[in-house]
Amino acid sequence: MTDYHDMWKELGIDLDAHDGLLEVLPPMYEENILSQEGRPGGMEYFDFVFSEVHGLRIKELVEHREAGAVVVGTFCTYVPEELIIAAGGICVGLCAGAQVAAEEAEKYLPRNICALIKSSLGFKLAKVCPYIESCDLLVGETTCDGKKKYFEMLGELQPVHIMEVPQMKLEHDRDLWRKEIRRMLERMEEMTGKKIGEKQIRDAIRLVNEKRKALLRLEELRKSDPPVISGRDALLIDQIAFYDDPARLTEKINALCDELEERKKAGVSIGGAHRPRILLSGCPMALPNWKVATLIETSGAVVAMDEMCTGIRYFDNLVEEDAADTEALLDNIADRYLNIHCAIFTPNRERIEHIKQLVEDYDIDAVVHYSLQFCDPYTVEAFSVQREMEKEGVPFLYLETDYSSEDTGQLTTRIQALIEMVGCAEKA
Ligand code: SF4
Ligand code: SF4
Repeated sequence: MTDYHDMWKELGIDLDAHDGLLEVLPPMYEENILSQEGRPGGMEYFDFVFSEVHGLRIKELVEHREAGAVVVGTFCTYVPEELIIAAGGICVGLCAGAQVAAEEAEKYLPRNICALIKSSLGFKLAKVCPYIESCDLLVGETTCDGKKKYFEMLGELQPVHIMEVPQMKLEHDRDLWRKEIRRMLERMEEMTGKKIGEKQIRDAIRLVNEKRKALLRLEELRKSDPPVISGRDALLIDQIAFYDDPARLTEKINALCDELEERKKAGVSIGGAHRPRILLSGCPMALPNWKVATLIETSGAVVAMDEMCTGIRYFDNLVEEDAADTEALLDNIADRYLNIHCAIFTPNRERIEHIKQLVEDYDIDAVVHYSLQFCDPYTVEAFSVQREMEKEGVPFLYLETDYSSEDTGQLTTRIQALIEMVGCAEKA
């Protein structure tokens, strides 16, 4: 085992607090991920990446910076990673999925703010995230109000660039968003001191599209019933996709998909029999948030699809590569990203239509809507999703939770009741 303490110290990490965090992660991983039986061999790579989450990947970021390039941290799927890659940078997703230093964070933020924002600040204040400490720039966005105000605070601690994400999708919203894409490109040029040319943008678009295609290929395989991969493993891959090297990740996902195709042909599956198929929808589940997915899958169902930002919202739709020049490429980037259907938009009928489509395509038996406590966009939109699912006759369960384990018993009871009900309906 390599000792990375010198590297962490150099990054300004609080070594004692960080050692404490690293002690908690392996048992969590064992309980949620490694305890699953019959996992495909191709998951070994992702197990390795997770085991080195604060080690080898951070070393790569450090070496990248030593070579004169930049690392940029993002918090939302609206931030186009193509622009960061085109500038020779590495893009890392920073959303925090575990409760860290909540009390410290509550000195600066209200108690009733979503766990994702609170823990993101907690990681920063406790100095336990080598990713955020490796970043030359953080890119925030005007999505929900909590994040907007949080980024003002973060800007006092580290350089932050804010992208204005519109809240509607009218023509003038698209114009604004297109200008924001240009402004982000200019910020990258200013930071690196280098002009970003058409070729760099084109290459970056191709690279990220290849990653999306691999992730979409994996999603196609999740249509198999019985399933060839668990929802937890698919979630883990999506979480890792936010920070791993895109070319290497693409290769590993494609190798896993080759194996899954073979397993499918040979009739090898996870669990070996049909289980109720759940669509998990709602707020993102950043690493290492596996709570709800684990409860669903240890209660006898499978998460067959995730309509979340740590799911299909992250990689659905490619950036159109066929474009005459830089401006046309930027147009295509703007259009692809504005086609993500987050609950911060109004109206957001597209998200509901997308969920309906996924229910049909993935032969879904029930929808579990996951909202983080105090997340207004998703808690409010859950009502519209529920209404629509009821119209369609699709069983629906609304869960509101946070990063603690206090409500595990109550969540388990509700999830088990749903799965039992779906199982009985199938037998009838
Ligand atoms: S849920 Fe909305 S605000 Fe949050 S990461 Fe996804 S797109 Fe961004
Ligand atoms: S989960 Fe909701 S409240 Fe929290 S950052 Fe995302 S959109 Fe904002």
